[in-house]
Amino acid sequence: MSNDNVEQIVLVTGGGRGIGRACAQAFAESGAKVAICDLSLEVVEQTASELGSNVKGYAADVTDREAVDKLFKSIEQDFGTVNVLVNNAGINRDTLLMRMKDADWESVIQTNLNSAFYCCRAAARGMIKQRWGRIVNMSSIIGLRGQGGQTNYAASKAGLIAFGKSLAQELASRNITVNAVCPGYIETSMTNELSDEQKAAIVERVPMGRVGSPEEVARVVQFLASPAASYITGAAIPVDGGLAM
Ligand code: NAD
Repeated sequence: MSNDNVEQIVLVTGGGRGIGRACAQAFAESGAKVAICDLSLEVVEQTASELGSNVKGYAADVTDREAVDKLFKSIEQDFGTVNVLVNNAGINRDTLLMRMKDADWESVIQTNLNSAFYCCRAAARGMIKQRWGRIVNMSSIIGLRGQGGQTNYAASKAGLIAFGKSLAQELASRNITVNAVCPGYIETSMTNELSDEQKAAIVERVPMGRVGSPEEVARVVQFLASPAASYITGAAIPVDGGLAM
């Protein structure tokens, strides 16, 4: 059975803006205590102050395993044990394989995939003790179907899905669920880098005929951490207006 009365103590990585910020806002509005981490202390503190007094910002680079362990210790002192982890921080360094530099490959794998390993390992101990936890990994429809020009990003996002399914099997008996959300084309700084022609070409392929909003992704993340999703684990849920069909 799920523990409906558990007080949610949430960590959203990359919570300074975009989808992460929307996730933090959704959890904060439902009364959870929310920690957001991002690269810039200034940005993350500004976001936290906009989202309310139950949100606190931390500067942490999730590619740095020591920084991740320190982050979890700080949140433990400020709020208590993290029981909802949203691995959202992510980057893209898109280019064709023949032009891809080692740094393009390594930074994307490190930021999008290795960070989830560091954060899940740091979070799992506390969740196991509490016998309750919710982990949501921010994958992408590119992790389901691939995309030319994004071999590094696709590998990291597909890796997150398989990582999550494996971890879901390890943690299921402790009432800890691990799921992935796979956004399609969502309007954020990440997609604002695309040219108008590229954006129009993507929207043309979306059956719902429009881009998605960060809030539409955040609602699914929040659902996966809610009692309504207590029997869902190991899933990878597209939030893409039908793009990946
Ligand atoms: P964004 O660039 O607006 O936000 C990402 C945030 O992560 C930024 O605030 C950034 O500073 C932070 N971040 C990056 N590296 C970090 C690190 N090492 N440590 C801590 N924080 C770090 O992007 P977004 O569109 O909001 O994307 C959020 C997540 O959703 C990413 O994982 C992305 O791959 C995924 N996603 C986005 C889309 C989309 O269309 N926007 C689609 C599919 C998946």
